[in-house]
Amino acid sequence: MKLADLGEFGLIDRIARRVSPAPGVLIGIGDDAASVRTGDGRVSLLTSDMLVEGVHFDLTTTDPVRLGRKSLSVNLSDIAAMGGIPRYVLLSLAIPPTIPAEFVEELVGGMNGCADRFGATLVGGDTCASRRDLVLSITVVGEQTSDRVVSRAGARPGDLVCVTGDLGESALGLRELQAGVRVSPAIDRHLDPLPRMETGRLLAEAGIPSAMIDVSDGLLADLGHILERSGVGAELESDLVPLSPYFRETAGRYHATPLELAVTGGEDYELLFTVPPAREAELRRFAAGMSCPVTVIGRITAEKGLSLRDRCGTPVVVAGSGYRHF
Ligand code: ADP
Ligand code: MG
Repeated sequence: MKLADLGEFGLIDRIARRVSPAPGVLIGIGDDAASVRTGDGRVSLLTSDMLVEGVHFDLTTTDPVRLGRKSLSVNLSDIAAMGGIPRYVLLSLAIPPTIPAEFVEELVGGMNGCADRFGATLVGGDTCASRRDLVLSITVVGEQTSDRVVSRAGARPGDLVCVTGDLGESALGLRELQAGVRVSPAIDRHLDPLPRMETGRLLAEAGIPSAMIDVSDGLLADLGHILERSGVGAELESDLVPLSPYFRETAGRYHATPLELAVTGGEDYELLFTVPPAREAELRRFAAGMSCPVTVIGRITAEKGLSLRDRCGTPVVVAGSGYRHF
C-alpha cells in the first residue's frame, strides 16, 4: 500500500495497532507526548520530533541559532500541550559533508539558550553522517503528577474551545519567505516560534482544561485530533479566530482567503484546549493574569464533525486541512 493513500496518521495507526498495552504506560501512541509512570504519583512525559532539511527547513532562509532553537521549541510545545515541565533533552544529528563544525556549535548554542530558558538540559543524543540532507531529531523528557497531565481525550459536549495567542502568522511567514521576503514579524514567528510552556503548565496545574493539544498541523487538523480522541464534535465561529494586526494587514497579499490560511496553516505552536462550562469563570480569571491572550472560539458538541460558521451562522467552507507529509 502506498503511503500517499494511507497518510501520516493512517501509518501511525498501523504502527499503534502492532503495540500491546504495557503496565506503566498511562498514555501511549496518539497524544502530544507519552505519559509513563515513574512512581510517587508522578509521570515522565516523552516526546520526539524530527526536522529534515528540505521538508521542515531551508538552510538558505534560516540560520543555525534559530534552527537549533526551533528544533527544541517544537518538542517543548508538545510537553506544554500535556501540561508538563520539560527536564531532559536528547539531540540526534545526521550531518552532510557540506556542514562545518561551527554550524553545529551555533545550532547547539541556539538550542541550549532555549533549553535554559525553560529549565531543560541536553543530556545526550547521537551523531552520524548523512549523504545529502541535514536531519535533526530531538527527544524531550518532561514531568508532571499523573492527575495533572492533560490528554487529547477529555473533551465533553458543552465544553468551550479555547486557543492561546493568534493563528496564521507562521504560515504567512512561510509564504513570505517563499516570495523572497526576508524580514517580517510573521517570518520571525515561522523561524523562531515560542512554545507556551508557562501557560500549558499553569492551566494543567489549575485543572482547567479537559483536553489540550498544541497547534502544529493547523487549527482544524489539531482540533480534529481532540475530537477523534474524545469521540465528540465541535462548532467554531470563524469571526472569533484570533488574528494579529500584521496578519490582518498582510495575509490577503499571499492567500485569497486569509481565514483559510489561519485555520489550516499550522506551525503556530499555540495551545488549543477545551474547558468545561463550570470552569468558565475560573478560565476568565486565569486568562486575565496570563502572559498571552486566551480566546474562546467555539463549543464541543455531542454530534460528531467539525463545523465552522460566521457570526450570522452561515457555514464557512475551507479547502484542505493541515500539512500532508505523504
Ligand atoms: P505531534 O504533532 O504532537 O508531534 P504527531 O502527529 O507527530 O504528534 O504524532 C502523533 C502521535 O503518534 C504521537 O503520540 C507520536 O508519538 C506517535 N508517533 C508518531 N510517529 C511514530 C512512530 N514512528 N512510532 C511510534 N509512534 C509514533
Ligand atoms: Mg503536538
